[in-house]
Amino acid sequence: MNGTMMNSPLVLSSLLERAGTLYGGVEIVSRLPDRSFHRYRYADFYRRARQLAEALQKAGLQRGDRVATLMWNHYAHLEAYFGIPSAGGVLHTVNLRLHPDDIAYIMNHAEDRFLIVDDVLLPLYEQVKDRVGVERVFVVSLTSGEVPAGYEKYEDFLAAAAGDFRYPELEENEAAGMCYTSGTTGKPKGVLYSHRSLVLHSLASALADTLAISQQDSVTPVVPMFHANAWGVPFTAVMVGAKLAFPGPHLDPPSLLDLFEEEKVTFAAGVPTIWLGMIQALEKDPDRWKLQPMRMAVGGSAAPEGLIRAFDRFGLRIVHAWGMTETTPIATVSRIKSTLAHLSGDEQYAIRAKQGLPVPLIEARIVGDQGEVPWDGKTMGELQVRGPWVAGGYYNLPESRDSFTEDGWFRTGDVATIDPEGYMKITDRTKDLIKSGGEWISSVDLENALMGHPAVAEAAVFAVPHPKWQERPLAVVVLKAGAQVTVGELRAFLEPRFAKWWLPDAIVFVDEIPRTSAGKFLKAKLREQFRDWFADGEHRA
Ligand code: AMP
Repeated sequence: MNGTMMNSPLVLSSLLERAGTLYGGVEIVSRLPDRSFHRYRYADFYRRARQLAEALQKAGLQRGDRVATLMWNHYAHLEAYFGIPSAGGVLHTVNLRLHPDDIAYIMNHAEDRFLIVDDVLLPLYEQVKDRVGVERVFVVSLTSGEVPAGYEKYEDFLAAAAGDFRYPELEENEAAGMCYTSGTTGKPKGVLYSHRSLVLHSLASALADTLAISQQDSVTPVVPMFHANAWGVPFTAVMVGAKLAFPGPHLDPPSLLDLFEEEKVTFAAGVPTIWLGMIQALEKDPDRWKLQPMRMAVGGSAAPEGLIRAFDRFGLRIVHAWGMTETTPIATVSRIKSTLAHLSGDEQYAIRAKQGLPVPLIEARIVGDQGEVPWDGKTMGELQVRGPWVAGGYYNLPESRDSFTEDGWFRTGDVATIDPEGYMKITDRTKDLIKSGGEWISSVDLENALMGHPAVAEAAVFAVPHPKWQERPLAVVVLKAGAQVTVGELRAFLEPRFAKWWLPDAIVFVDEIPRTSAGKFLKAKLREQFRDWFADGEHRA
């Protein structure tokens, strides 16, 4: 027997409608390229997002057509986040940090029909424009008002709307958004989000035990809106009617700290690199910024325990989360259960440094060579997940079937453990694992330990071929400005924490660590660079 409730579709336009009607006075602030601030309110955002939807319809947008964005985090990108899906289109956020060849590949694969681009990013688009088939390009004037010939002004496009927009009858399983994975190997793969998945993900992200985003918050998505929908934070913030303070292109620690102070930011989300830089700025000049008590969602790479502790000393609370483009992305969040509140401070920090518990409606399991492994906190295997906002396939890429199991789980490619309480801990990417003498070594644990040393700004550990052990770990370390430490001291620092065979055979000081477009360590490049380091079988420090 069915229940007798209404079967209302879960669509993003409902979130826009509610925000526009109930929270018209709430502010949306955006830092512009010239560092000045653009300010308006939800009432303006609501009107303009609907204008965009209407203008797109008038331009002939068909259901499911892809509209690409090449934009920083600001008000106009938020208008695209809601205006495009509300018109029945698909918001395709293009990663501006990628190589132009990859951007061209992605835009062609997605068959983007229209593009909205920041004026400051036009030079990037110019590098691909002859290789892609975009019909019309709308330029957002963030600096001067002028746009070059061949392009249209976004403002003129909006002005073409008469204000009589009516939402199409959207179905919840229709596509609303699209992101390509920024994998470190292979071609980018398209993930196509449905309205339903984005609405459910927003509801789950707002929960008190996950990211706890509420109307009372002032929210800064530091993570780019072109990367996994800025972890869905813009959707969630609009769903609850929270103030938004966008950083635009200014992501250096002092600019962000100024923004947090001036806009009284209470919630922000970003990758560890951002917070590692910020803690250094705070420690150097502890009285410069008067911040609100903040929660910071950290993911994308592991949040080192030392970072969590350091921010606690400033009354700023890191909430560690794990996810992927394929999981929309929030899938696990580390919060201390009420039944574990009695644990010591150290034990609680160890839990907070894990990637956490699956959020409601997401299931996780660890699979080894012999099938599912026990939740003992020790046995490593591949992390597999499933749930209503986990990709069930990639866009137009039949050969990617290997990413899914026969029984309907997504293979994350991450190696992890789950402890008896259900806390998941990432130990590596499958391809980043170090296998020494047949045993696995977790590069992430070694990196986090090294980054806990007061002289170390950043550390990456990776596998280098070794004649005797097949692979041995090598660490590259960037020191904090003005700090000094010897290899011997770092080794002594690691020794009590790890089995002897886990210790890196070499620790090399470098000026910087190569990164992917998403700010993650580019281990493939490091492996290549240091390929012959142990070729003669010597342990070279
Ligand atoms: P992306 O799809 O670009 O967001 O990358 C997803 C990948 O980032 C995951 O498969 C993990 O390898 C990594 N990742 C995300 N969050 C975390 C985290 N909290 N700790 C460690 N790795 C993470």
